[in-house]
Amino acid sequence: MQFDILTLFPDMVSTVLSESIIGRAQKAELLTVKCHQIRDFANNKHNNVDDTPYGGGVGMVMAAPPIYACYRAATDTLPAEWRRRTIYLSPRGRLFTQNVARELATYDQLTLICGHYEGVDERVIEEIVDEEISIGDYVLTGGEIPACIVVDAVSRLLDGVLASPACYEGESIASGLLEYPQYTRPPVFCGREVPPVLLSGHHANIEAWRTERSLELTKERRPDLYEAYLKKND
Ligand code: SAM
Repeated sequence: MQFDILTLFPDMVSTVLSESIIGRAQKAELLTVKCHQIRDFANNKHNNVDDTPYGGGVGMVMAAPPIYACYRAATDTLPAEWRRRTIYLSPRGRLFTQNVARELATYDQLTLICGHYEGVDERVIEEIVDEEISIGDYVLTGGEIPACIVVDAVSRLLDGVLASPACYEGESIASGLLEYPQYTRPPVFCGREVPPVLLSGHHANIEAWRTERSLELTKERRPDLYEAYLKKND
């Protein structure tokens, strides 16, 4: 899968995504992340990419022409048979969830447009964007962190990025429940012992304990998920 990220701060994105599991997956050519500098397409003496909003108001708006030119340069030569989707990261967008990550993981290529300042000229959204995605009900200074979040969550669902699908299928949210508590060595830490059932070697009892804890935690912390789970498993 290929991610094309259109941004004014490519280093911010490439630094985050070159580390750890996503960095290794790129080296193993399981996925490609390309960052495109929107400012390279400014086409004016001072490389300006933003301007004051029509109608007045605070802040600056990212102009449409550089974003459009950057988009065309990034995507015009992509293989015609690829399934592609163009996303503008925005607090106005559809809320990003594990289900949305699953949906996006079915594409061959995603273009992620990172806004800054007061956002981007609406006309470029109308022209090239398939949908707007929000990573949560709060406002950040730019779309770079949201883009990294989308790339990370989608990438770990791709074949070969994690050791096996079991790594993500049983996790919080993905399974419909929050995950049970996890423990590793040492057996006693600050006087706190590992629950004895986990040291018993009795697989059925361990499974039962984990399911029970999962249900308990979900009921307590996310009653919305708990109700949905009960309904689904009725
Ligand atoms: N004026 C815009 C509004 O009220 O919708 C907010 C602009 S915000 C300060 C600057 C940029 O950060 C946005 O263009 C968007 O790309 C990104 N951004 C901020 N919060 C976000 C969120 N919750 N999800 C996705 N992107 C976000």
